[in-house]
Amino acid sequence: MKKTKIIATIGPASKDEETLREMALKGMDIARINMKYASHKFVKSIVETIHHINEQMDTNVSIMLDLKGPDLTVNNFVGGTAYFTEGTKIRIYAEEILGDSTKLSVNYDKFVHKVKTNTTLKIDDGRIELFVIDKTEEYLLCEVVNGGFIEDGKGINVIGQNLNIPFLSEKDVEDIKFANEINVDFLALSFPSSGEDVLQVNDLLIGLNNDHITIVSKIENQAAIDDIDEIIHNSDGIMVARGDLGVEIPLERVPGIQKQIINKCHRMGKVSIVATEMMMTMENNARPSRAEVSDVANAVLDGVDVVMLSGETTIGRYPIMTIETMVKIIESSEQDQNYYEFLDRTMRTEKQDISGNISYSTVECANRLKCRLIMVPTVTGYTAKKISRFRPSSPIIALTPDENVVKELTMYYGIYPVLVGEIKTFDKMMKEVREQAYHYGAKGGLVIVTGGYPFSEVKHTNFMKIEEM
Ligand code: PEP
Repeated sequence: MKKTKIIATIGPASKDEETLREMALKGMDIARINMKYASHKFVKSIVETIHHINEQMDTNVSIMLDLKGPDLTVNNFVGGTAYFTEGTKIRIYAEEILGDSTKLSVNYDKFVHKVKTNTTLKIDDGRIELFVIDKTEEYLLCEVVNGGFIEDGKGINVIGQNLNIPFLSEKDVEDIKFANEINVDFLALSFPSSGEDVLQVNDLLIGLNNDHITIVSKIENQAAIDDIDEIIHNSDGIMVARGDLGVEIPLERVPGIQKQIINKCHRMGKVSIVATEMMMTMENNARPSRAEVSDVANAVLDGVDVVMLSGETTIGRYPIMTIETMVKIIESSEQDQNYYEFLDRTMRTEKQDISGNISYSTVECANRLKCRLIMVPTVTGYTAKKISRFRPSSPIIALTPDENVVKELTMYYGIYPVLVGEIKTFDKMMKEVREQAYHYGAKGGLVIVTGGYPFSEVKHTNFMKIEEM
């Protein structure tokens, strides 16, 4: 059983029921829908299909809606595309125009007013580079530094200058309300620049009486790196969104920042996700490159909670095979994880209270005794998350009566959530533990049970029991 989770982004290559079912069976934990491209109709159909698959196959795939965010994009071109030749001059107009190989406009009306001269602009993940050499009220005059074909709606990044675009656009607010209506499990926030931005979404959700949606902040620019502690503090999880991040900051800085963020999240008890181009070769080939295998393996060895697929599963030729291959890399790399180092590292930052010490002891025993499973009856998910933070070598089976907790826990390292009826007595709990332990193949082996008793007292881990199955 793999412990590192997989997010797969859903698109034309993966939207049909048969493909989604196979992806779920092979190891997709979370289906992500990118609101930069998806309509509400598309989202509804994917959500319905996933719910159907979960019921049919007894899987727990949850849903992440990734907001468009204050994303800058170029407006349309004559015929949908244009070619920018290196060394030529082009104009970016303040007014919305139909672009060609000499001019374009951007989807933000203050763009020309705010962007300064001597600024680098990168389009389409940095493939095309422009340099602003002059400006008037009507346009920016730019030199094409790196040329190429450009298409309608491609992203444009302003390097080293924060335009202070309002974080929540009307579209994002509408999409958050929609996410609340259809009860998605995770919201990914694009381009937050501060902890304050994350709180805006929190406030909006409180206003909608939604207290369970999990918030993941995507780190995509220097401003977010500068306020990383506050962003982590105000979020449930962090995504290292290497696509935009690798355009906004020097590409060679991304691996170091990725490692720092995984580490910080682990210390602060928050989920970490590494995203973008992890298996990109598999968009067109049946095998990943050696470097991609290393990339996934290194994230796992660093103790990340989740690895993410984007183009590989939205437009790639091998969405199912990509998941299968990723699972193989994860399972193999988890055998090389340094569980004792994780345990030590976590204990140094864990509260020295009863819950912290019971969790530490549980994981230490599970590692030493090579327990097949750690079984956690949990109402709020508190104990299961604590155990996950210690990164045990055994999978964690979380038994919870709350459907929202089931969905939330799908994102945490090592946790396999199971929906159970309300558990009131210790004996009933042990009966449920035994049933589930058998179901997960632990018959004949050792399992550790941990949680808080009495069950009515939440967020208090105070027992650990070792059982031979
Ligand atoms: C990224 O930039 O790496 C990312 C995951 O975000 P998006 O897919 O929205 O560009």
